[in-house]
Amino acid sequence: MVDNMEVLYSSTRDSSLKVTASQAILKGLSDDGGLFVPDHIPTLAVPLRELADKSYQETAYEVMRLFLTDFTEDELKRCIARAYDQKFDTDEIAPLKEAQGAYYLELFHGATIAFKDMALSILPHLMTTAAAKNHVENEIVILTATSGDTGKAALAGFAGVKGTRIIVFYPKNGVSPIQEKQMVTQQGDNTFVVGIRGNFDDAQNGVKTMFGDRELAAEMAQAGMQFSSANSINIGRLVPQVVYYVYAYAKLLRRGAVKDGEKINVVVPTGNFGNILAAFYAKNMGVPIHRLICASNENKVLYDFFATGRYDRNREFKLTSSPSMDILISSNLERLIYRIAGEDAAKNAELMAALAQSGSYEITPQMREQLADFYGNYADEQETAARIGEMYRSTGYVLDPHTAVASAVYRKYVQETGDETVTVIASTASPFKFTRSVMNAIDAKYDALSDFALVDELSRIGAVAVPKAIEDIRTAPVIHDHVCDRTEMKAAVKGFLGIGS
Ligand SMILES: *Cc1c(COP(=O)(O)O)cnc(C)c1O
Repeated sequence: MVDNMEVLYSSTRDSSLKVTASQAILKGLSDDGGLFVPDHIPTLAVPLRELADKSYQETAYEVMRLFLTDFTEDELKRCIARAYDQKFDTDEIAPLKEAQGAYYLELFHGATIAFKDMALSILPHLMTTAAAKNHVENEIVILTATSGDTGKAALAGFAGVKGTRIIVFYPKNGVSPIQEKQMVTQQGDNTFVVGIRGNFDDAQNGVKTMFGDRELAAEMAQAGMQFSSANSINIGRLVPQVVYYVYAYAKLLRRGAVKDGEKINVVVPTGNFGNILAAFYAKNMGVPIHRLICASNENKVLYDFFATGRYDRNREFKLTSSPSMDILISSNLERLIYRIAGEDAAKNAELMAALAQSGSYEITPQMREQLADFYGNYADEQETAARIGEMYRSTGYVLDPHTAVASAVYRKYVQETGDETVTVIASTASPFKFTRSVMNAIDAKYDALSDFALVDELSRIGAVAVPKAIEDIRTAPVIHDHVCDRTEMKAAVKGFLGIGS
């Protein structure tokens, strides 16, 4: 039957390659530089109205088993149980909150209060299970570049996990003070955090180069280690993200907010294109989704791409109040490009080569036609701050800047189209992670307060308890103070691993 069909993964740059789900998770990125993609997107086997009564964990199983077909029921259920437990501060795991006529899907109730926890709580378990399945005896070294939220979520997920080490690079001046404090206070002998003098793209490019470095791979193999990736290019991150779109629809059904089969729109504040791609996969699995609304901040490469069919990273990189979206190369877009190119790996590889060489590429009119379900727009800094202030004043609900970008873009969409479809907005971070921007948006007088005084004030005016993730770092000592240039990343890695000279 369809739902038992094995899903294999091929590279977006070489479709002759076929690996199992566990092998794709272990490798992270294909050797040819491509991303692993499922050879077909499975259809939901259980009707959504049945999922309406299921827990997050049960829903996760129903979705993930269809993609990770070489994991046994036992293995998958064990991974899910370990991931979605008391680390989350609500049994619902991903609650829906209605505000001003839209449903905010709160994806920030995990250990590090950003949506990255949704996938990174489970990835270490998927990865160690995958290693055992494939008789890998090497130590797995997770190498990650972060624009702020991935780093801490990956550190929290992998810290202390046997058989793994984790190395995180972040742009030294490109993350919020709370984000930085969260990372540099990370405990665990198997963790290493480095600030680089450069932006997120520099960090990501450095990491990609190390993944492709054969000499380094050989030295690591000699020492009994191998790299893997916790970045959103890993299929083991994408698949768990599909879950909450299925779950959100099922919960809307349960509330009677939609009738069975009624379409919804989904708005996603986007950076690397992982979260919105997961929504696209959910749509292809059978979740009735009408438009996929891609929200960008002032780094609006994706808006321009949807508007013109031309992807062009040659532009000024802007630091904004939504740093996790400060990205000019949205890596996961490659999976969509591959798909709209008719799963033509050669065509995709050609476009990606153009991107690497000249920083831009243009898709064909036939490819563009297949993007009709997507709508792109952006919100500038002023619009984002205004949205936070306005939402707070009219409802008391406090949005973080990333979610505010999505909320502002949703308003533009409704104004432009008059579309009244029930809408889910992915709420990707707790406002406590970006207290200064949030409080300044509510009232400029707050700028005089210290970071932690702001935290307490936000708790008071928003009537929400300070999350444990923030309480924990208030007094935590700094453990990681390593800073390096882009060119020194490899040396830093070798130093931490104790290999080479
Ligand atoms: C990572 C992140 C995003 C962007 O998600 P992508 O999957 O990279 O598009 C948006 N908001 C927050 C808070 C994030 O941490």
